[in-house]
Amino acid sequence: MDVTNRLLRVYQIDRQLAGLQSRLRAAERFFAEQSKQLAILDAKHDALDRQIKQINAAVANLENDTRSTDQRLEQIREQMNASRTNKDYKTYLTEVNTLKADKGKVEEDAIGQMGRADELKAELAELDTQRAKRAKMRDVAEAQCNERKAEISGRVEQLKKERIEAAEDVPTNMLADYERLYEHREEDAMAPMEITDVKRHEYHCGACMMAIPMQSGVALLTGQFTNCPNCQCILYLSAETADAITPTSKR
Ligand SMILES: [Zn+2]
Repeated sequence: MDVTNRLLRVYQIDRQLAGLQSRLRAAERFFAEQSKQLAILDAKHDALDRQIKQINAAVANLENDTRSTDQRLEQIREQMNASRTNKDYKTYLTEVNTLKADKGKVEEDAIGQMGRADELKAELAELDTQRAKRAKMRDVAEAQCNERKAEISGRVEQLKKERIEAAEDVPTNMLADYERLYEHREEDAMAPMEITDVKRHEYHCGACMMAIPMQSGVALLTGQFTNCPNCQCILYLSAETADAITPTSKR
């Protein structure tokens, strides 16, 4: 096996690993998105909850005010009953009317605030329904993620072992060059030389689709390590192409 074919084994294992891991990445992205959405709903829940508590505290204050007013009114009524002069009586009556008017406003305010609290409670209930649904989706996404991890872990371990073995067959400097190329180009690090016109001996690169000069084509056909002069990928010869190019008499 020439060096290109030995490198091709490494490349094919790298592609299989990438394929397996991309499925896991997709599941991980979905899980991350669900977790993020759930966190947004949690934040909304907390904000609503805080608002409701603030309103409840305000209503409790207003109710205290009303109770104080009631106590004061009770006192005044007693004083009115005990009043000796008409003037005193009238002074108390004015105070009673003022207190009653104030109390009316406070009660109105409290009713308004309680109405607002009810609206917010309904919003909170609606939000909690959404939140429960989202939490279920998050759990499903998490399970999917773990399932996929378990699914591929055996195969990934196996492929990693195979890659170590395959890489041992490739000269170190060549492997390093390939790995640099793979880091940038991934799938396009290696490409088959494809036939443009078999009779005219015209070929092109399977990655960039540009024509391959005759001398590069010949070099590859004679088992030499060859890069595409245009995109620099490492060219290889597939079995079908080799078959198609080799004259029938030589097969
Ligand atoms: Zn190319």
